[in-house]
Amino acid sequence: MTHPHAYPHLDAAAMSQLAPETLAVAAGRPERGPDTPVNPAVVLSSTFVGLGGVGEEGAIGYARVSNPTWEPFEEAVGRLEGAELPALVYSSGMGAIAAALSLVPVGGVLVAPQHAYSGTLGLAQSKAERGELSLIGVDIADTEATAAALDGADVLWVESPTNPMLEVADLPALVAAARAAGVLVVVDNTFSTPLGQKPLALGADVVVHSATKYLAGHSDVLLGIAVAATVQLRERLHAHRTLHGAIAGPFEAWLGLRGLRTLALRVERSQATAGELARRLDAHPAVARVRYPGLPADPGHERAAAQFTGFGSVVSIEFDDAASADAFVARLALWLPATSLGGVESTIERRRRHAGEAQTVPEGLVRLSVGIENVEDLWEDLRQSLEAGR
Ligand SMILES: *Cc1c(COP(=O)(O)O)cnc(C)c1O
Repeated sequence: MTHPHAYPHLDAAAMSQLAPETLAVAAGRPERGPDTPVNPAVVLSSTFVGLGGVGEEGAIGYARVSNPTWEPFEEAVGRLEGAELPALVYSSGMGAIAAALSLVPVGGVLVAPQHAYSGTLGLAQSKAERGELSLIGVDIADTEATAAALDGADVLWVESPTNPMLEVADLPALVAAARAAGVLVVVDNTFSTPLGQKPLALGADVVVHSATKYLAGHSDVLLGIAVAATVQLRERLHAHRTLHGAIAGPFEAWLGLRGLRTLALRVERSQATAGELARRLDAHPAVARVRYPGLPADPGHERAAAQFTGFGSVVSIEFDDAASADAFVARLALWLPATSLGGVESTIERRRRHAGEAQTVPEGLVRLSVGIENVEDLWEDLRQSLEAGR
């Protein structure tokens, strides 16, 4: 990543020394010059004047292959994930996930968590039904069982913490086992964000994100990102994007970078609030169970404390049945009853209302995506709804 940028006195080595919250602000700004803008321009052009020969450096040619508005966002996320190469932006998280799943060879074996993003599992299952691959579902928190499933596998897919059960994987141990078995590791790092954990530093091969969530952070855009550890893997992902066409619009990519600038502030606030709300919910008699790795009694707590720099901004709580969960959500005034997560506004939903959710997710499980509002306002709303239901 040797693009000319806005900080000519910071060379590549100095840039890589910067703290993540600094990188999120500084990376991907245009080259400095008299009266140059501090933000990248939105380039609205489907084609580019082709003065360079085909394949020559600088020959973008056509906007399905590359776009100058993608590059600053791709550079910034690549740096945040500690990659040596820029990331690749896609039109959605699923676009990036489809590209990463294409790394499983035809007839190959994919090992994936039984609880993971429903779209990821849905795509993997449909590929399995078509005979394109074999899918082995594992309890990703069970390191021994997951490692045992790697024998003869091609790709290990990891989410940690998982959506929506918030199980925590022993990522260093799983990556080591996968490498020993010659298995590629893809990590969906959407929930942790690059501030929470950096899978590439542990030896993972590819990191994907639904940038729709924390990276963009304002529930106003769908975007995906993939970060590859090697040039070869990046070329395969890039070819998939170019040929399947899951490309981001320039304005969407610009919004992604605009959102990324405040990632550290948003995550810091929402994570602190999530921890406080999880403690209060855990102490409330109307809640049957709280799942949050930040709680000392949570099964994933020790691992999360050792591996993440924070416990995240998603909390899952359980009620005895679907009806009590639905009634609890319906009585809320401030929490928006909406799917998705990672925005500045707090959202909440009972996950099993989606037909595609894993049947092993409890019917009464409600997932909270904690935003950046005042903690007491958020708590007061939860409290009044819990009390009204008793
Ligand atoms: C939302 C989500 C996705 C899918 O991303 P889209 O941007 O909606 O396509 C993938 N993985 C996780 C963990 C998610 O939360």
